Amino acid sequence: MKKGWLERREYPVPADIPEALAELGIDVLKIIGDEANGKCPMHYERTGKYDQHPSWSCNTASGVFNCFSCMYTGPFAQLVVDVLDISWDEAVEWVRQRGGIERVNKILGRGKYIDDLVAEQETEVYTEADLALYTLPPREALRKRGLTKASCEHYGVLWDPERNMWITPIRDRFGKLLGWQEKSERVFKNRPYSVEKSKTLFGLHVFEGGTAILFESPLDCLRLYSVGVKGAVSSYGAAVSDWQMQLLFESADLVILALDNDRDGWKAAKQLKQRYRGMGRRLAFYNYGSSEAKDAGAQSGNEIRFGVDHRLSPLRVRFPD
Ligand SMILES: [Zn+2]
Repeated sequence: MKKGWLERREYPVPADIPEALAELGIDVLKIIGDEANGKCPMHYERTGKYDQHPSWSCNTASGVFNCFSCMYTGPFAQLVVDVLDISWDEAVEWVRQRGGIERVNKILGRGKYIDDLVAEQETEVYTEADLALYTLPPREALRKRGLTKASCEHYGVLWDPERNMWITPIRDRFGKLLGWQEKSERVFKNRPYSVEKSKTLFGLHVFEGGTAILFESPLDCLRLYSVGVKGAVSSYGAAVSDWQMQLLFESADLVILALDNDRDGWKAAKQLKQRYRGMGRRLAFYNYGSSEAKDAGAQSGNEIRFGVDHRLSPLRVRFPD
């Protein structure tokens, strides 16, 4: 998402939101209460994956939209900016032409949700002292994912006992705390909302050099550590940034890409192979072999060690179409 809407102070809303969504080519799959649900229109741009489930909703009164999976959120005009690839002013005009302007002051031109986001941007600071409120994950949560307590201690992953959530700190390469991710079965949130996780890697501050193995999910790194494999780091998703690749090649002798074993993971890996083939022997690919596991988190210790030991060179690796 192009940044900038947080600084705006007016958010016009079209008169008929389902109609405006249709005009933008966004299919509304169902309307529950005043939330219109559909597939996230910017999911691929933001994560490198298509939204498989309808993760996205738009409030039919306020026009505020939100993807609970990739956190794509904002006022209606921002949606118009992104979908039509036009400027903010053009998008505001687009909304006004659809009967929006009168509603600006009357109805939730700025929903409470947006006020909360703005407040968070302006005031919230996430500190080590806040982290001290969290505990080590309980045995049951560790068992479910095949993780050891030592893996949590190594990577500094915590647990919120009140809300039963994983707390995954986001730190820069020197260990400075930038924020964290909150994750449960149903909820996934970045704190702060705008934390710049594409400029760092999970686990980089405890990486000791040698071989780095790059996963999409931080918890996959813990899974590797739990079966005795060190050096795993995570990009926080399939959309690996150039910045992150740069950090990796600066820190590691060999980078093994271990993105998810699914269509979107293969696609991202193919693109990275294309972009970094000049790194030659310093780049390799995790070997899923005949395993149908979606990621290392679902693999056995033997499968994981096979994936690393039998890594494939860029010349030998093949991805299904
Ligand atoms: Zn999304």
